[in-house]
Amino acid sequence: MTTTVTGKTATTLLLDGTAEARALRTKVAQDVAAAAQRYGAVPGLATVLVGNDPASVAYVTAKRRAIREAGMRDMHCYLPGNAAQAEVAAVIDELAQDSEVSGILLQLPLPEGLDAATLIDRIPVSKDVDGLTTASTGLLARGAHGLRPCTPVGVLHLLDGAHVGLRGAHAVVVGHSALVGRPMARMLLQRDATVTVAHQHTVDLASLTRQADILIVAAGVHGLVGAEHVKQGAVVIDVGIHRTPEGLEGDVRAHELRGIARLITPVPGGVGPMTIAVLLTNTLLAFEQERTCS
Ligand code: NAD
Repeated sequence: MTTTVTGKTATTLLLDGTAEARALRTKVAQDVAAAAQRYGAVPGLATVLVGNDPASVAYVTAKRRAIREAGMRDMHCYLPGNAAQAEVAAVIDELAQDSEVSGILLQLPLPEGLDAATLIDRIPVSKDVDGLTTASTGLLARGAHGLRPCTPVGVLHLLDGAHVGLRGAHAVVVGHSALVGRPMARMLLQRDATVTVAHQHTVDLASLTRQADILIVAAGVHGLVGAEHVKQGAVVIDVGIHRTPEGLEGDVRAHELRGIARLITPVPGGVGPMTIAVLLTNTLLAFEQERTCS
């Protein structure tokens, strides 16, 4: 789903993540209703929030609303910001044992003093709807079946929805976090793109990004990428989210890319809504796999 923006030299299309996500969420809600008929049960997603970080509270609130709207069970657990590692671990262990919990999401970042990696690894791979455990990361590295991190899956949905060919395309991923950049690069490789990964120590970022047919920016640096980084006709996906006095903005100076990029995701309304939609599809997948395996 795209909107046209006319620039100086060529046409730039906006990839509408809101519409794409709405379609995905409608489909999930239909599948949840069908699952309720078939199994007499619906998927349950447990969000675990530790502390009151305002961005985390906002993300968890949005995820919980989406869960309820999809007809799934909203199984939220809150712990105070001073909770000990063992307390958080005990909550995750309990959710891991609960047959009504299809998926567990530990909202990041955690308050200082908590070891996120160790806690994430307590989530059983079958309930790892964020795809961040060591086991899920290994399955992705192998190219084996498994739950994948939501944001990169959302990006691939957007690219596929816009019929962007990945095989043989040069994809440059800016950012190599465990949450976005690394899994994104692996998924693109699996789709036979030629992948370059850039990060904060990359020398001369612009000379690399200018080679990209598909440029995916997940650096968390407001306005990092502009006209000087993008070749004519490239597809640009902006994963970054920054709260500014003017509203939400991304890592990309999108206004500079009119007439340069062929396709671009807006912020807001691009990748963000897709991340939540994929969380729902992952939860449904976890629920269905649990039933077919048991
Ligand atoms: P992170 O801080 O964990 O990782 C940032 C990555 O960018 C690192 O690999 C770092 O090396 C690289 N980087 C930093 N500065 C750079 C520079 N100047 N040049 C090149 N690379 C640079 O961040 P993250 O969790 O991967 O998130 C990145 C951005 O995406 C943030 O703005 C975050 O809010 C956003 N995000 C959005 C969604 C969504 O749904 N849209 C989901 C997750 C994250």
